[in-house]
Amino acid sequence: MSAFPHLLAPLDLGFTTLPNRVLMGSMHTGLEDGRKHFPAMAAFFAERARGGVGLMVTGGFAPNIEGWAKPFAGTLATSGAARRHKLVTDAVHAAGGRIALQILHTGRYGYHPLCVAPSRIQSPISPFTPRALGAGGIERQIRAFVRCARLAREAGYDGVEVMGSEGYFINQFLVTHTNQRTDDWGGSYENRMRLPVEIVQRVREAVGKDFILIYRLSMLDLIPDGSSWPEVVTLAKAVTAAGATILNTGIGWHEARIPTIATSVPRGAFAWVTKKMREELRAAGLTIPLVTSNRINMPEVGEQILADGCADMVSLARPLLADPGFVAKAKAGRSSDINTCIACNQACLDHTFQLKIASCLVNPRAGHETELVLQRAPARKRYAVVGAGPAGLAASTTLAERGHEVHLFDAAAQIGGQFNMAKKIPGKEEFSETLRYFGRRIEQAGVTLHLNTRATAEALVAGRFDAVLLATGVVARDPKIPGQDGPNVLSYIDVLLHGKPAGERVAVVGAGGIGFDVAEFLVTPAGHSPTLNLPEWLAEWGVADPATVRGGVVRAQPAPPARRVTLLQRKAGKLGRGLGKTTGWIHRAALQMKQVEMIGGVNYERIGPQGLFVTYGEKRQDGQLIECDTVVLCAGQEPLRELEAPLRAAGVAVHLIGGAHEASELDAKRAIDQGTRLAASL
Ligand code: FAD
Ligand code: NAP
Ligand code: SF4
Repeated sequence: MSAFPHLLAPLDLGFTTLPNRVLMGSMHTGLEDGRKHFPAMAAFFAERARGGVGLMVTGGFAPNIEGWAKPFAGTLATSGAARRHKLVTDAVHAAGGRIALQILHTGRYGYHPLCVAPSRIQSPISPFTPRALGAGGIERQIRAFVRCARLAREAGYDGVEVMGSEGYFINQFLVTHTNQRTDDWGGSYENRMRLPVEIVQRVREAVGKDFILIYRLSMLDLIPDGSSWPEVVTLAKAVTAAGATILNTGIGWHEARIPTIATSVPRGAFAWVTKKMREELRAAGLTIPLVTSNRINMPEVGEQILADGCADMVSLARPLLADPGFVAKAKAGRSSDINTCIACNQACLDHTFQLKIASCLVNPRAGHETELVLQRAPARKRYAVVGAGPAGLAASTTLAERGHEVHLFDAAAQIGGQFNMAKKIPGKEEFSETLRYFGRRIEQAGVTLHLNTRATAEALVAGRFDAVLLATGVVARDPKIPGQDGPNVLSYIDVLLHGKPAGERVAVVGAGGIGFDVAEFLVTPAGHSPTLNLPEWLAEWGVADPATVRGGVVRAQPAPPARRVTLLQRKAGKLGRGLGKTTGWIHRAALQMKQVEMIGGVNYERIGPQGLFVTYGEKRQDGQLIECDTVVLCAGQEPLRELEAPLRAAGVAVHLIGGAHEASELDAKRAIDQGTRLAASL
């Protein structure tokens, strides 16, 4: 008997049966946006098809130029383009998978001057003001959707997903703050929802009965004046009647100020919304399968959601970047071998915003399947890897999997390096999953692990290794502030790793990723995390039942901070500029909710028993006292490579990776990528 009977049960769609209840949700990988990437896209999806996922949805393809996400974004509007997609569909089918193409019209979110919308209202996330469509223009958009769906079928896709959520074009017709039309496409809700209903109806007519048509429905807009619950239910019923095969859940417009997929969002945080909809539809006698999504990253989470009757399928997007073999591992009862998505967004969504190919922090092969190939080594060699942080873990396991003998040393009693601090931050609990995963990989790959062992140059020379990989990480930068030796001064390592207590009022020196995390740690009561308590998290961010308020947004009700924290940096300007594009705003908003004072442009003059003295700019006299009981230093990091010189002097081949190689702008993404790539080449 499977541990995941609901998750792994087949789903009969009438004309076809999906092998299980896992849908790989649409993600923009960047591979859509150029013909040259199609072989990589085919390999990307084929690898996930081999991993057993029930149905996959591509990243969004625009049905026409007006629908582009950005200039020259992937578009499916001609037979020639459809022929190119055969490479993808053939590869997926050869691997035993199924794939649907997402039709994405961005409307006023389009980052280009040709964007169109129901009304001429600029969005807060694009510098371009859309052109308001006339009736003829709307008809052209509908025809483009229909043409795109027909071409998708021609290209061999098993279906299409009509993107009707996240605040894109279709969504923009539904609510009055983006649709102020007075014609047949605006005004009453019946008029506002005409666009999606016509699209679904006409797509269904064009593609025939035996073609999957997923409609992604915005069930919770998370914007003020969003759709009301009765409106969303009305639309769900109407698109079902119009011919949708499956309803997928959309949560939050892109312009919403509530996090929906970041790591601090509780697992399965929005499954209740799909459940609410499912109950409405079942009560009306509609049996259309519903898919729920957002922060479902382990089979246990998906299984529970399905067992609770929240949905008929679960959508996992990023978790399949992290581990293409997710479903196969669940099937084999090996869920503890899954490389879990930690919802950091650092290599996927952040890359998309930086116009780079999406990948994955914990799986650098994602999106690079054709280029980062891990082959068996031609000859078995002996390697020492010093440091079991992310860089050393990635390198040692990859080397061993390729057939080498590998000895991994760490001075600490556990693997993980700085991730052992990261996982203690409220809202970053997922980081421990990466350590569980690498722990399993170490065992399976046969890496010999030497914990509690500080490697010395002498021991490494005596070990006669073919090469030594130094993954020794970093040391905290010394900010050299007069008075920092006092008893009221701690480093982030003291606070996070050694559990040294901080007082009631704390000044945090340094506002990089670690300064922000330490501030979050300090404002949260010890041992507590709203991420592990869904009702509390929803209240903190002001998410409400959409049946009580349009869009499901109310006033946020954050719990009071555990202490008063002041976060400081020397640079002038807004704090947190260097944080991730898609997560920085969440960190800033979270600290603002906890009344953290953020001060930039300071000089640290000295620390005394009363607190921290700072001055501003050129004026170095009359320092201002920031009264506090504790000062926590988070002033950046320097590489630790004390073993390099003696090893090289002894003629040992040395490779530096991770923080030992370069501490500036280091993160786990770079550490794991560098460790993996080096190990792939040795
Ligand atoms: P480290 O993780 O520093 O590991 C080095 C290891 O080497 C240590 O375990 C150490 O004990 C060992 N070592 C050193 N010398 C020796 C020796 N002589 N013998 C044996 N062992 C030795 N990054 C992100 O990408 N995203 C985040 O959200 C994020 N959050 C973070 C939050 C916090 C609070 C902290 C502290 C860091 C965070 N980071 C984050 C940074 C990330 O953890 C680091 O970039 C990453 O750990 C660097 O990996 P590394 O392998 O180079 O070094
Ligand atoms: P960081 O991001 O480089 O920030 C260092 C902070 O210290 C800055 O605010 C810097 O600002 C300040 N600083 C630098 N030199 C100083 C000095 N001599 N005296 C006083 N202040 C000084 O480094 P970090 O916060 O230590 O983080 C380490 C790495 O971990 C980062 O590269 C980061 O990417 C990664 N990380 C990422 C996340 C994430 O969520 N993605 C979270 C945590 C850590 P001023 O120079 O303006 O004072
Ligand atoms: Fe998940 Fe982070 Fe990988 Fe994106 S980069 S898939 S969020 S682990």
